Amino acid sequence: MRAMVLNKPRTPLEWTELPDRHPGPGEIRVKVLACGVCRTDLHVLDGELPDPKSPIIPGHEIVGRIDEIGLGVTGLKVGERVGIPWLGHTDGVCPYCMENRENLCDHPLFTGYTRDGGYATATIADARFAFSLGETGSDVSLAPLLCAGLIGWRSLGIAGEAKKLGLYGFGAAAHIIAQVAKWQRREVFAFTRPGDLAGQAFAKSLGATWAGGSDEMPPVPLDAAIIYAPVGALVPLALRAVRKGARVVCAGIHMSDIPSFPYCVLWEERELISVANLTRQDGVDFLGLVPKINIVVKTTTYPLDQANRALADLRAGRFEGAAVLVP
Ligand SMILES: [Zn+2]
Ligand SMILES: [Zn+2]
Repeated sequence: MRAMVLNKPRTPLEWTELPDRHPGPGEIRVKVLACGVCRTDLHVLDGELPDPKSPIIPGHEIVGRIDEIGLGVTGLKVGERVGIPWLGHTDGVCPYCMENRENLCDHPLFTGYTRDGGYATATIADARFAFSLGETGSDVSLAPLLCAGLIGWRSLGIAGEAKKLGLYGFGAAAHIIAQVAKWQRREVFAFTRPGDLAGQAFAKSLGATWAGGSDEMPPVPLDAAIIYAPVGALVPLALRAVRKGARVVCAGIHMSDIPSFPYCVLWEERELISVANLTRQDGVDFLGLVPKINIVVKTTTYPLDQANRALADLRAGRFEGAAVLVP
């Protein structure tokens, strides 16, 4: 197999030939068909997340086909198309797993961070954490759903029943969730980098009621806001944009420091909460809805060996929607 490997944080990924591996008990081997590029991959690259596997093959939005099955795997077969998400393994016994909050498991493994991921021609996954994808939809358009879509979905649920919903950072996750929110008959208010008129037009083309810079106030107070951009300075801005009793959800795994702000910005029962990871039930719920919603996923594809270019383009905001690597 071949892979783009991160040997050390803050160095480019290296195109590497590796020995083929076979799945152990409970595992599957998947031939990778497409792998999305997520902002979390940049945090792994930049060494911003604690205790990564090293060296590591990044990538946790994997669409592939099973080509070998380990002992004891049930419910999956060779040739089946599956999705491998960020949550790669849990212990199943810790207090969080026991109360159906496996996203907070005490001993988890995360694909492309603490176990090898999908920037490769093949990967090994814990079979219990793979989603059967069926044959509807292209490999490339499904890949971003596996994190941008899933984490977006979880953050939307945590935002609650909000009718007027703000989305800060209109990248891969927001462009998917805007369409889900619209389908749920919510109104979307999209916030982009100040001056990003193309991004604002893109948000409106996907049904946003209003789009503007993150330094602007929306025309009406919002019922909730979700922050997808890893920018702590957005937290007080979003708190100011929501009404009394509203929730602001931070959906990223990493954020720059949040600047101090006067208490009155949080006062009146505004809530600030983060979202961590996903549960398998989130995946089942969201992927089950996808065919009904008819989500249009905007993708830019790159050959697998061009992963460094895809990551640089993501960092610079050089494409709309999501980047996907194709082996
Ligand atoms: Zn656990
Ligand atoms: Zn991700």
